[in-house]
Amino acid sequence: IRVQEYRPQAFTDFTKEENVKAYQEALAKVRQEIVGKHYPLIIDGQKVDTAERMVSLNPCDTDEVVGTTAAATKEHVDQAIAGAWKAFESWKKWDMDARARILLKASAILKRRRLEACAIMSIEAGKNYAEADVEVAEAIDFLEYYARSAMKYAHFGSAETTWFEGEENGLMWIPLGVGVSISPWNFPAAIFLGMLAAPIVVGNCMVVKPADNAGVIAGFIADIMLEAGLPAGVLQFLPGHGSEIGDAMTGHPKTRFITFTGSVPVGLRIHEVAAKVQPGQKWIKRTVMELGGKDALIVDETADIENAVTSAVQSAFGFNGQKCSAMSRLIVVDDVYDEVVGKVVERAGKLTMGTGEENANVTAVISQKAFKSISEYQKVGAGEGKVLLGGEAPGEHNGKKGNYIQPTIIGDVDRNARISQEEIFGPVVAVFRAKDWQDALDIANSTVYGLTGGVCSNSRERLEEAREKFEVGNLYFNRKITGAIVGVQPFGGYNMSGTDSKAGGPDYLSNFMQLKTVTERW
Ligand code: NAD
Repeated sequence: IRVQEYRPQAFTDFTKEENVKAYQEALAKVRQEIVGKHYPLIIDGQKVDTAERMVSLNPCDTDEVVGTTAAATKEHVDQAIAGAWKAFESWKKWDMDARARILLKASAILKRRRLEACAIMSIEAGKNYAEADVEVAEAIDFLEYYARSAMKYAHFGSAETTWFEGEENGLMWIPLGVGVSISPWNFPAAIFLGMLAAPIVVGNCMVVKPADNAGVIAGFIADIMLEAGLPAGVLQFLPGHGSEIGDAMTGHPKTRFITFTGSVPVGLRIHEVAAKVQPGQKWIKRTVMELGGKDALIVDETADIENAVTSAVQSAFGFNGQKCSAMSRLIVVDDVYDEVVGKVVERAGKLTMGTGEENANVTAVISQKAFKSISEYQKVGAGEGKVLLGGEAPGEHNGKKGNYIQPTIIGDVDRNARISQEEIFGPVVAVFRAKDWQDALDIANSTVYGLTGGVCSNSRERLEEAREKFEVGNLYFNRKITGAIVGVQPFGGYNMSGTDSKAGGPDYLSNFMQLKTVTERW
């Protein structure tokens, strides 16, 4: 088939009044049509309800219920995996282009409903307009990009082999079978969708568990995939508590592979459960892991200071620091420490606090659990450095109860402190005074993580050194360290940050296929 070359979606310009107005209309529509909705499980194309319901709350107004989903049990996991294997028998034989068309159709639907998807996330996850907009753009990009990647596999067929006299040799890509996809709440549209669309387009069937705190947007996205024409059983939608059904999904003998994005402790648990062979299991399970980060930005004495300050503030506090790529460590060379840190504190101090719907810069963090953990880290940090900004967790705003935490900056922290080493996943930044460039690079590499990182510098020599030595999967120079774009900056970390599978990259689909070499002697 002929499709246009892949191009990432443009972002919406919210300095234009008509775009703000359209967003507000979408918020009103979602409040009328979606808030309060219930999403059952979907097994073999049938909606299945459960006695227990998972309740999704508005983080910026925790008295408000955004919606509910069913809560799957272990029995549902068994049914969903069995049904998915049945569906696999025919889905694996579909033409690659035909499968890709379903992603393109889903993309078309999501483009039409882009503002609704954004509005749901403003209410359910506290995303402001720009944060929600770039996420839905990313979700669309995943569909468009993976559809085209799959077509390339179909058209150019197998990888090349070397010619050998008297024989025909060839490689075939084949899908793995039934996989489990478990996603986090922080990109509840894009990551949820990307992690199911990629394995599905190359012929696998998926049992998907969205995050506990963002079931409504996941239900909305799952419905779009079904509307786009996925046959029954190819996508089994199984919201549920990770602690209750997680092990049943990942430990199941008929689970062929697991694609997971989330925290290091849960990722390592899944890795361990998946490694244990169960009775009746006949494969080594494959795990694709995208985990946490403790991401650092280095600013040296040659940097453009204004640009460095903007990069730091955007990287640290966009979506309240709840991005795996967020800057949680700012490393500044001594010569410019006072100037840079002073300006970062001043700029961050001007961020507005409020709800996602009000389009505030800083909103509430996702859950009570996150609120408790982050506010605990604020206290730990106060003992490990000098609180330069924030430090409080008011837990309310404008008379509404919500998981509100002040943007917090803690200066002169030691590289081995807890807030230097542990992922906080909120708006709390540790700042380090480095003796010089070499010391700064050492500090940057002093954690077990390796997800994103950045350098603001005008020294060619240092940038080249960082290119080689800065241990991260995504490295940025002279800009913010968040906001990877599908196809432009393939995303994924190494060390404890994951298996570096590079979502939105040219080889991502190969994570979900295996190769068979076939030789015929003439
Ligand atoms: P989390 O690890 O708490 O949960 C992720 C998912 O795992 C949820 O769906 C949860 O229900 C499920 N889960 C919990 N226990 C399980 C078990 N025993 N077995 C199977 N599944 C289980 O993470 P979170 O709070 O949802 O997300 C934040 C984390 O995700 C942060 O650490 C962040 O850095 C990371 N993250 C990484 C990337 C990346 O691309 N590397 C992207 C986004 C988020």
